[in-house]
Amino acid sequence: MSVSQLARSIVESPTLRLNEEARLLRERGEPVIHLGIGEPKNKAPFPAILSTAAKIVTGDVKYSPTDGLPSLKKAIIRYTEEHYNRVVAPENIIISSGAKQSIFNLLYTVLNPQDEVIVLAPYWVSYPEMIRMVYGVPVIVTPEDGSFQPRLEEIERAVGPYTKAMIVNSPNNPSGMVYPASFIAEVVEFCERKGIYLIMDDIYHKLVFDGTEAAPAYRFTKKDTESTKVIVVNGIAKVYGMTGYRIGWTIASRELTQVMTNIQAQTTSCVSSILQAGAEGALLGLQSAVESLRLQIQNNRDVMMQELVSFRGVKVHKPLGTFYCLPDFRAYNGNSLELCRFLLKKALVVTVPGKEFGMEGHLRLSYSGTVKDVTEGLERMKWALDPQSANEIYIGDRKLVRDWL
Ligand code: PMP
Repeated sequence: MSVSQLARSIVESPTLRLNEEARLLRERGEPVIHLGIGEPKNKAPFPAILSTAAKIVTGDVKYSPTDGLPSLKKAIIRYTEEHYNRVVAPENIIISSGAKQSIFNLLYTVLNPQDEVIVLAPYWVSYPEMIRMVYGVPVIVTPEDGSFQPRLEEIERAVGPYTKAMIVNSPNNPSGMVYPASFIAEVVEFCERKGIYLIMDDIYHKLVFDGTEAAPAYRFTKKDTESTKVIVVNGIAKVYGMTGYRIGWTIASRELTQVMTNIQAQTTSCVSSILQAGAEGALLGLQSAVESLRLQIQNNRDVMMQELVSFRGVKVHKPLGTFYCLPDFRAYNGNSLELCRFLLKKALVVTVPGKEFGMEGHLRLSYSGTVKDVTEGLERMKWALDPQSANEIYIGDRKLVRDWL
């Protein structure tokens, strides 16, 4: 088989691969618990279902404008005014097939080959790969103090003549960290001073806990949308639990949006008009579904923290957003991939190796499933790893005895 060098160098998405492994095990009847999952278990909010169905029954399902349905853009303008306190024009918005396509399209639009993009560790696995896919160079900044938040001095040191952009994701996948407003203010000021695009991946922005706020970058710039370096990516996948709708959007200057539209026109033409109608329903309908999802996830987070602090040797930062945490498991095994494989084999629990997110020795655990998934999953992990835990456990209807510690 002949494939390009670039394509060959792009790694498989580890989370999607784990989903597939878990699915195959489940199909064989194995009682797998999936703590690797990146989506909530809720049903799509009712207004979204209704407007999706209403669009289908018209039978009028055609191409939409490349940059998105005007009515969905109106809903996004309202959303942006409400949550970002910024009025943008329809020409500042392009709707894509998920925030993933938004980010890819954006990187394709701004990077020349060998241009560098600053990525803060821990980072979402797709950023470095997407940067490489457009012949850019990811420059990873890892906090030296072992925390999940690099300091501005560390970022400054990584910036050079080829730095074109920086990606900031807060609340952060995989750590659940919400960067303080003072940090966001610093990076906005820094990027504008240096002329670097600041790509804010805000996909989890309303999934925050304990009264925390994910400070919007727009708050810290005096520039208008045409001249600011701040670019915002958002979508409905996480906050509304509508991952399968594949709707994301970018807010940028008219000039950049126009170029992104040209690229999208040559690749996917537009996003499905049925799914855009569904997204419009979600954004314009009652927002109670978002709050109940947030509360349920916050409760799951509390349960997971309770279980983790009783786990000997595991260190964890309490997440203030998303539905992930990134505990340090180096007390058990410094090789996170090895540890993940061991947990899947012995305890039938899916976790994601921290190495994939630039944090070796850690595991990403998701609490987006049920409380039962969280408690049982952690109980199994303790059984597999901690010699002080009981050495017998029921997994499904099988009684297992630990004989390796
Ligand atoms: N950004 C981050 C940080 C994510 O975790 C994800 C989904 N895992 C995305 C973007 C992509 O979102 P979408 O499903 O809208 O493509």
